[in-house]
Amino acid sequence: MSWGIDNLPYGVFSRQGEAPRVGVRFGDKVFDLAAALHDEVFAAPSLNPFMARGRQAWHDTRALIQNKLDSDRGVAESHLIPLEQVRLHLPFEVADYVDFYCSLDHASNIGKIFRPDAEPLLPNWKHLPVGYHGRSGTVVVSETPIKRPHGQLRAGVYGPCAKLDIEAELGFVVGVPSEMGTPAGAFEDHVFGVTLVNDWSARDIQAWEYVPLGPFLGKSFATSVSPWVTPLEALPRIPGRAQDPEPLDYLRRQGDWGLDIQMEVWLNGEIVSRPPYPTMYWTPDQMLAHMTVNGASLRTGDLFASGTVSGPAREERGSFMELTWNGTDPIKLAGGETRAFLQDGDTVTIRATAGGIALGEVSGTIG
Ligand code: MN
Repeated sequence: MSWGIDNLPYGVFSRQGEAPRVGVRFGDKVFDLAAALHDEVFAAPSLNPFMARGRQAWHDTRALIQNKLDSDRGVAESHLIPLEQVRLHLPFEVADYVDFYCSLDHASNIGKIFRPDAEPLLPNWKHLPVGYHGRSGTVVVSETPIKRPHGQLRAGVYGPCAKLDIEAELGFVVGVPSEMGTPAGAFEDHVFGVTLVNDWSARDIQAWEYVPLGPFLGKSFATSVSPWVTPLEALPRIPGRAQDPEPLDYLRRQGDWGLDIQMEVWLNGEIVSRPPYPTMYWTPDQMLAHMTVNGASLRTGDLFASGTVSGPAREERGSFMELTWNGTDPIKLAGGETRAFLQDGDTVTIRATAGGIALGEVSGTIG
């Protein structure tokens, strides 16, 4: 089953009148770890203290939980709480947030839309994973309502964003800090797991503001994440996509960090896209190596996201900007409605599976 013993993602939950604490999802229930494992680290209202313990502890804890759920069902049962009785919280305290731009198809599409008369890919794109530092303070958990941002839309015009969009992404959560550069080969020693990310984007604000320093207010109003963080150990891995030209030494891959993850973008209960993660050009070990190659440190709770996941086909694009070609070719919904960008009241939900396991979902309604 997709929430079985080979999955076990971590989250933070509370029951009415109780303090938020750490649990893992098993089926349609939450396994209450502080009570079941008698370990205070799980009484914290975030995953950060547990994530800081490091890779061996992550592995041992997962094995212990699997063992309890597998062979000790009677005892385990008393610590399993039905999901409908709990509220799910932001699972980790977000330290720094970086957003990359690792999909070749997404970068090519955006290049064609924003700069129709130029080469779609800028000269640096195949030499380094392009990224920017985002705003960690506005990372919110799934189901947090999203308020339509206001801002400068073009010269002399201030108002509500008319091109509100999504970006379907995968986020990587850092557990173990480091003082300086973190090589690609140390990826598993520092990264705890993955979460689904919706990088809400105000395209009109973005198009006017982004030259020459990159995304700013068009992105910083909200970024949603799934309430569940799936440990790296649970993810099926495949070789990364071939890269040409060969990247510099510090970006050389030491392991297979292509991820066999298939995503779905739902709009008001209807699937509008199926972005395939295996088509991503840069792998997460390369993202980590690049974002620290200047000597930058890592902190527990750092989040770095892949950038929009888009495949080569139209129905695989992870943003409305690409799905509707900047609004010129709206999506037709089953009920006869059309969408160029998001309207008030729209709900977008991103789901994903990795082999047989579910990665949770990230959902938000425009209010
Ligand atoms: Mn993004």
